[in-house]
Amino acid sequence: MTIPFNRPFCDERELNYIADALRSYKLCGDGQFTAKCHRWLETVTGSKRALLTSSGTAALDMIALLLDLKPGDEVIMPSFTFSSTANAVVLRGAVPVFIDIRNDTQNMDENLIEAAITDRTRAIMVVHYAGVACEMDTILAIAAKHNLPVVEDAAHALNATYKGKQLGTIGSMSALSFHETKNIACGEGGALLINDSSLIARAEIIREKGTNRSQFYRGEIDKYTWVDIGSSYLPGELQAACLLAQFEKEPEIYDARVKIWNFYHEKMRPLEARGLLTRPIVPAGCVQNGHMYYVLLSSGEERDSFIQFMGKKGIKCPFHYIPLHDSPAGRQHSRAHGDMANTFDISERLVRFPLWVGLTDEQLELITDSIEEFFSTQTAESTKEKLAVTRNGSM
Ligand SMILES: *Cc1c(COP(=O)(O)O)cnc(C)c1O
Repeated sequence: MTIPFNRPFCDERELNYIADALRSYKLCGDGQFTAKCHRWLETVTGSKRALLTSSGTAALDMIALLLDLKPGDEVIMPSFTFSSTANAVVLRGAVPVFIDIRNDTQNMDENLIEAAITDRTRAIMVVHYAGVACEMDTILAIAAKHNLPVVEDAAHALNATYKGKQLGTIGSMSALSFHETKNIACGEGGALLINDSSLIARAEIIREKGTNRSQFYRGEIDKYTWVDIGSSYLPGELQAACLLAQFEKEPEIYDARVKIWNFYHEKMRPLEARGLLTRPIVPAGCVQNGHMYYVLLSSGEERDSFIQFMGKKGIKCPFHYIPLHDSPAGRQHSRAHGDMANTFDISERLVRFPLWVGLTDEQLELITDSIEEFFSTQTAESTKEKLAVTRNGSM
């Protein structure tokens, strides 16, 4: 038996909606399904405007365009993130400036932002790791003091909150992802949430190949034309049909994921108490969304042998994020501000557990039993080693 790390929760509803989209012969973007998805996102998050995109990456690319980044401009962000966060900035000729993360939430350390600001800084890009919010009050205060926009990579964070506010609605804009590995999935897909209404008109144009076609469709103008730079960032209706089905199941998906997260968290409590691992921390004021369950092991070697041990049991437990500042493209296109000690350390020791709707109780028991077995063999081995040392020492 193999337990995958992730499996999207699809059933008849997705099939039916996709069939409806096909039968309507309206397959390009911005049809009925897309409109319903926009409404759902705006209602659930409270964002002023939601625009579906072909991926989370596409939404990040749109953010970089909407920030009007120019060559040499800088954007402060964590190095412990996916390549897309940095790529969007680099594609504009601008420079990601990486700062270290906190060693509790694995989010950007808000206390390091101010020292990284230069006269080229144009924005602060936060990433809410595992759907746990960055320390937004402090970050917004620093941004206001320096007159900088805050933008959010909220790819992990749909329906997670910070002091009651939905993540993705706190900065001026944010990117959501509906990639197969995210809570809500349509294969490849994403959304741009716009909270600063002065950006809405330009966002619509950038998304529609630099044309004012959206205004034309609404009957606001009588012909449309090329008015700005842009590209094709909108998904087709088949993608949107799948996504609408997922949105309608979102409360069920959320509950099921949080339940699994809580199960792991309880099961890991005694292991943490014995000093064998560290569980994730959700600070007061933050509500997470069951996107990811991870633990920190005591060393990179132990983490690697854990992944191997679980793999032999047929259980996929991946690591996460090789620090971007230390990657081949990162070394070429970005710079790190200050010491990246936590980023390196966490990247070595973090491991994620399978988390998806449909994991059975038996599978969950097998996973947690295997984790316990790993530590009992580890302990047995280190006891053996200690005994061996003692014996050698006494010889
Ligand atoms: C998944 C992810 C992205 C990219 O989203 P895609 O939809 O795969 O393009 C960006 N940033 C983070 C933090 C992600 O996890």
